[in-house]
Amino acid sequence: MSEIKIREPLLVELSSPGRRAVRFPAADVPLADLPAGLVRDDLPLPEVSEVDVVRHYTRLSQFNHGVDINFYPLGSCTMKYNPKINEDMARLPGFTQVHPLQPEETVQGALALMYYLQEYLKEITGMAGVSLQPAAGAHGELTGVLIMRAYHRSRGDTKRNKILVPDSAHGTNPASSAMSGMRVVEIPSDARGNIDLEKLKAECDDTLVGLMITNPNTLGLFEEHIEEVVQAVHDAGGLVYGDGANLNALLGIARFGDMGFDVVHLNLHKTFSTPHGGGGPGSGPVAVAEHLVDFLPSPIVAVVDEDEEDGLPTFGLVTPKRSIGRVKAFYGHFGVMVRALTYILILGADGLRQVAEDAVLNANYLRVLLQDTYHIPYNRLCKHEFVAEGRWEDAPGVRALDISKRLMDFGFHPPTNYFPLIVPEALMIEPTETESKDTLDAFAAAMKQIAREAHENPEVLHEAPHTTPFGRVDEVKAARELVLTWFDWAKK
Ligand SMILES: *Cc1c(COP(=O)(O)O)cnc(C)c1O
Repeated sequence: MSEIKIREPLLVELSSPGRRAVRFPAADVPLADLPAGLVRDDLPLPEVSEVDVVRHYTRLSQFNHGVDINFYPLGSCTMKYNPKINEDMARLPGFTQVHPLQPEETVQGALALMYYLQEYLKEITGMAGVSLQPAAGAHGELTGVLIMRAYHRSRGDTKRNKILVPDSAHGTNPASSAMSGMRVVEIPSDARGNIDLEKLKAECDDTLVGLMITNPNTLGLFEEHIEEVVQAVHDAGGLVYGDGANLNALLGIARFGDMGFDVVHLNLHKTFSTPHGGGGPGSGPVAVAEHLVDFLPSPIVAVVDEDEEDGLPTFGLVTPKRSIGRVKAFYGHFGVMVRALTYILILGADGLRQVAEDAVLNANYLRVLLQDTYHIPYNRLCKHEFVAEGRWEDAPGVRALDISKRLMDFGFHPPTNYFPLIVPEALMIEPTETESKDTLDAFAAAMKQIAREAHENPEVLHEAPHTTPFGRVDEVKAARELVLTWFDWAKK
């Protein structure tokens, strides 16, 4: 791999000996020497002024692509516009200034917010109980599998140790199942992108803990035989776990509870509009059917007294009877819950349904615009996303990565690359519901131009991106040899 191209004077040294951002007031106490060894003279700190620091970080922030800058079709991530009113609500001092160790009677408003969010999520999923504790989607999965295991054990059914995961599942599904100590068995997809029913049935025996299914799956396809799938697992005494991270395809239209699922998780930071990525806080509530409510992690927010003098109920924290215990300190990520409830209340039932209709419409609109130019192996009506191949037989040497890098020249964030694994050179595209037709048209035009270039002038793809401050990086080196500090210690 060639050297990274740097196109702007980014690496100009800002540090200048003696330059300072802060000036301390003169000491008003006697001066004394610090104990030997306390100060490291060899620590090279940049010597910069306040304005140098501000400009440096502001410039860095401008190198980043965000959903507030342009289209971000990163499949399975739901990078949609997050309404700013969510932020206003999450910053209300009444929410930001409470402490998790305050007595319950002093945080009734926060508990009420959590209670009503639990109730809305029950209604949205069609399930009987909800825990808001898990910190993210994968954490919700782990929690859900622990609940499933506890359920089987409580019935003396101790031989069950197998979780089935389709090959079209999100990558976290096999990972969290394995982390819970289960044996993970992969079930292949059929030619239409559904679970291979015969292969599934062959694994449905008395060692089955359950099935963890992403629906719609990572091809963006709704499982066409979901009722038969659920039935086969239930017939073997197993439970069905639904990965509902990308619920924006189903909101207000279909409910996991009605499909017979036993456990699901939702990603509040995707579907319910909290900015995420880059390690931002998430929230992956778990919802369960009636027979699993007693196993939910503690605590759950409940109405502990209906009839207060002022007519308001009193809320409190309760521990379900056979709870698997805590999975998170304190209450979970409260700020994300504030944003999710704001989003739900502002949209209302009709608005939530419209979210799903628009998410599905946008994905299908783009799919059809691109289907003559890009090969879409499982090309049928999709839900929130679809997966195209980033390769052509008559354009050897061009890969999905080249297409993604070239897209950056048009100001678009690349789609998810190389996932799911069942599509070679995968480009997983999720436009989300918040994009206009104009944006989708512009993206499709860029994708078509790139396809033309792949055939006529592949060099322009191989050398992309051309307009970003940094050219193409060596991804392996960038991941393995991170240089995150001002001073490159490796070069010292
Ligand atoms: C994002 C995602 C997850 C994982 O969620 P995290 O919050 O990143 O842990 C799981 N399943 C699906 C389908 C997802 O899209």
